[in-house]
Amino acid sequence: MIDKGTDDVGAGGWQTALFHALNEGIALVASEFEQSDDPTAVWSFHCECGAEDCNQWVELGLDGYGAIRRGPEPGVLAPGHPVERARRVRVESVSLREDSRALRAQARHQIRRAHAASSDGELVSYRYIVRSDERIIATGRVSLRAPVEVGDQIELSGLNGTVRTVEPVPGEPELRLIVEERRNPR
Ligand SMILES: [Zn+2]
Repeated sequence: MIDKGTDDVGAGGWQTALFHALNEGIALVASEFEQSDDPTAVWSFHCECGAEDCNQWVELGLDGYGAIRRGPEPGVLAPGHPVERARRVRVESVSLREDSRALRAQARHQIRRAHAASSDGELVSYRYIVRSDERIIATGRVSLRAPVEVGDQIELSGLNGTVRTVEPVPGEPELRLIVEERRNPR
């Protein structure tokens, strides 16, 4: 029978290292998102106890996470989870820097993909203004599946025009389009 006792560092060691790297990646991404200086923002970090069946997440603010990394604790641990193994396989951040970087890149990729999906696959709402010689000649809302970019030719309210501006509307999920009417020469 395989000894599952206290000397069994190997089994959980890689998990501790893996979740350490994962958590470092989460912290890096979180720090990029956390621009609102919201001190109450919490992020989910995975417990680093190394137990094979551990699937506990621990909610921590970035400050709390940083304190754990700087403090005497061996890592992020869910309440009551064994500290001994995590301490023995104490992970060196330096050796995991590459892993963290890879995780960060992966997270960025996912964010980009989510953005792409919202402008590619799903309908995006636009609030539009059609101008002609600085006068507003039409306004409205439209949902489009394809992303709209500056310079695109578009038909809105039965008017043909060129997209001059695409910008977010503060506090709204919509984008604002400003379209210059393109008049056909007579
Ligand atoms: Zn655990």
